[in-house]
Amino acid sequence: MTAGPQAATPYLSAADIRKSFGSHQVLHGVGLEAAQHEIVTMIGASGSGKSTFLRCLNFMEYADSGTIRLGADEYRLGAGHGPSEAQLCRLRARMGMIFQSFNLWSHLSVTENITLPLRHVLKLSAADARARALHYLDRVGLSSRAGYYPNHLSGGQQQRVAIARALAMEPEVLLLDEPTSALDPELVGEVLAVMRSLAAEGRTMILVTHEMSFAREVSDRVLFLADGRIAEEGPPAKVFGDPDTARCRSFVTAALHGKRAAASSPT
Ligand code: ADP
Ligand code: MG
Repeated sequence: MTAGPQAATPYLSAADIRKSFGSHQVLHGVGLEAAQHEIVTMIGASGSGKSTFLRCLNFMEYADSGTIRLGADEYRLGAGHGPSEAQLCRLRARMGMIFQSFNLWSHLSVTENITLPLRHVLKLSAADARARALHYLDRVGLSSRAGYYPNHLSGGQQQRVAIARALAMEPEVLLLDEPTSALDPELVGEVLAVMRSLAAEGRTMILVTHEMSFAREVSDRVLFLADGRIAEEGPPAKVFGDPDTARCRSFVTAALHGKRAAASSPT
């Protein structure tokens, strides 16, 4: 989190991102800005477009139009625009993504899960990749599980491995898509603890979560997405404590009381 007034220059910004699947328009001009060390959180009902937006941010999905800037690089999206394959590879490495479903390779050990992208994308030597993997496993408290296979770990441990894998790429920004939503309630805490420590070390993060108390604690800014539009945006105290729109108020109230389904949009 940053202290004081909003930091100056956005490091990551997305403007007017639009995306349709067939005739279904999912994003109607969504944007955000994050300065270095800021945590921007997106909340909203299931189906509001949060995952699609994150996937557009790191080009796992191509937006139909809009602009994305990361550091000094700017990409205008749309027909005839967009990064080249080589640029894409580099861009994705600069924005680490953590998924709800961990996405670990089940046939690879914990260490191999982390070293594989280091070897193939960053072209590190086997020894350097292994050393880096062990460093980041230690960072998430899992040094003792280096030789395990994902199936022999709890969900919380698997997600911590996925976080270590993302960190090991030493990205400039972390994108986290509901990292605790697939976990049994008793395992959520260990993942939130790792995320809290990432916040404390000043990581730039874009976070999608239903963990409202956590979001309120760590976020610099919160965006409420509804039907592919940002319906409300502000500091966490405002968005959670005194939202302007009835829709945001009803979502936040329901989410804080663990009744996500009740907050779903009517569409
Ligand atoms: P959220 O993450 O907020 O739950 P999503 O971004 O996953 O929302 O989905 C938004 C809408 O886009 C949903 O209606 C979903 O069905 C649709 N959608 C997402 N991905 C695809 C896809 N690959 N093909 C078709 N529709 C999609
Ligand atoms: Mg989603």
